[in-house]
Amino acid sequence: MSRGILWFRQDLRLRDNPALAAASKECDELLCVFIDDPQDQTISQLGAASRVWLHHSLTALQASLRKKGSELYFAQGPSQEVLEELISQSGAQRIYWNRCYDPVTIERDKSIKTALSDLQPRTFNGLLIHEPWENLKSDGSPYRVYTPYWRAAATALGKEPDRLQTLNMPRNIPALSDVAAQALAACVSLEQLELLPCRDWHESMLKDWQVGEDAAQAQVERFLKSAVHGYDEGRNLPAEQGTSRLSPHLHFGEVSPRHILNRLLLERRLSALSESETTFAKEILWREFAYSLLFHFPQTIDEPLDPRFRKFEWAEQTDEHLRRWQRGMTGVPIVDAGMRELYATGWMHNRVRMIVASYLIKNLLIPWQAGEQWFRDKLVDADLASNCMGWQWTAGCGADAAPFFRIFNPVLQGEKFDKQGDYVRRWVPELAEVAKKYVHKPWELDAQTRSGIDYPEPLVDLKQSRERALTSFTAIKGTKTA
Ligand SMILES: Cc1cc2nc3c(=O)[nH]c(=O)nc-3n(C[C@H](O)[C@H](O)[C@H](O)COP(=O)(O)OP(=O)(O)OC[C@H]3O[C@@H](n4cnc5c(N)ncnc54)[C@H](O)[C@@H]3O)c2cc1C
Repeated sequence: MSRGILWFRQDLRLRDNPALAAASKECDELLCVFIDDPQDQTISQLGAASRVWLHHSLTALQASLRKKGSELYFAQGPSQEVLEELISQSGAQRIYWNRCYDPVTIERDKSIKTALSDLQPRTFNGLLIHEPWENLKSDGSPYRVYTPYWRAAATALGKEPDRLQTLNMPRNIPALSDVAAQALAACVSLEQLELLPCRDWHESMLKDWQVGEDAAQAQVERFLKSAVHGYDEGRNLPAEQGTSRLSPHLHFGEVSPRHILNRLLLERRLSALSESETTFAKEILWREFAYSLLFHFPQTIDEPLDPRFRKFEWAEQTDEHLRRWQRGMTGVPIVDAGMRELYATGWMHNRVRMIVASYLIKNLLIPWQAGEQWFRDKLVDADLASNCMGWQWTAGCGADAAPFFRIFNPVLQGEKFDKQGDYVRRWVPELAEVAKKYVHKPWELDAQTRSGIDYPEPLVDLKQSRERALTSFTAIKGTKTA
């Protein structure tokens, strides 16, 4: 009789889960466990909003496992110590997990693999289509520009369509015997992990979300039936539901990118996709590009990839400006709308993420790391790889980055992508009655009308702050790169 441990991490699903599929086949009894590890950078130590999502995702996973006659166990503490205790308490002889790719987790997992070598740990790829060491340039180095990365990935998929084959949910997930289950003194209840905050802000945050694997699958189908066909245009319009909103599901592994591409392609080749479908496939692969960058340049978690930016002169005494940006009180409507959407829902539209990030970095001259941290705490899809890449991209110091001197004008961005001002009016109710002409620049209203609106004046002058940023950039432009 063989007893195994299935260690759930960033793969909170039963379908297309290679570690679970192998463990279910090879073991007679399976202990399914999630460990809340204070050293973990991938899941547990993300911010408050992500922990709320995690709580509900684990609830859903537990329900799915129970339907299969199995159970999800929970533990808290450094993963290696917890696993060693679980092995000794349960008598497990095997262990399985799907790989994660942030630098701290990689090191931790390596040492766990060595410590548990007697159990011959088996690890799998459940998070990505291409792991970071797979899609490399011909000289073996990683891509730093996305278009060639995408071309190489698309070519590889053309040659290897089986890579997108998904695994069914295991028909049978062997349960742990009652005797073994009773010996698990290291386990606690989900509530004891205290993933939910004491105050109840999280209930309103999750009101528009359905969490868990079944919800993720349904969302994939809904999106692929409708919005994907207008994705090329729709993905830029924050007032519309033009994007998939799959990011938190992907982050927690409630659905695999393989499943999404598989359902998008429906037996077709990538080259047979429409333009909108291709753009969507490219976005799914952007996420993989981010994982590749994090793996090959782990320092980019908090350091700029372009070393010139280490000498960049940021503004001094920025606490008040940062606070106003975080609260959505900068006086720039599209920025405030985005920051309030983030606060209320744990998510923000990609176009607006770029606008608010550009405003923080280039108009307020606040280091991108401060914005990255705020996003990490407030996003339900907070993801070390995508978040660091997104911030560095906007700052102009990352891979394939927008040049620093290309500074978004938030008024023009608003007028172009939120033409009627619907997005701003939804999130900044103070401006609900303002005419379209002024909704993105209420400071141009006449003084009398303005005095009747309880909305702040802009924190900084957009033109002057832009000039100031360009001056700071010019100072580092010619400096040597390392
Ligand atoms: C400053 C900044 C910070 C960001 N932080 C995160 C983050 O913490 N977590 C996160 O998942 N995404 C992040 N992104 C990327 C992007 O904004 C979100 O993935 C996207 O808005 C999620 O919405 P969606 O699922 O509807 O996306 P869709 O447009 O439907 O795209 C489908 C999927 O493709 C992936 N994707 C799309 N765009 C990107 C991108 N630019 N980079 C990486 N993957 C992408 C996501 O997994 C997304 O779910 C950030 C972008 C910026 C500019």
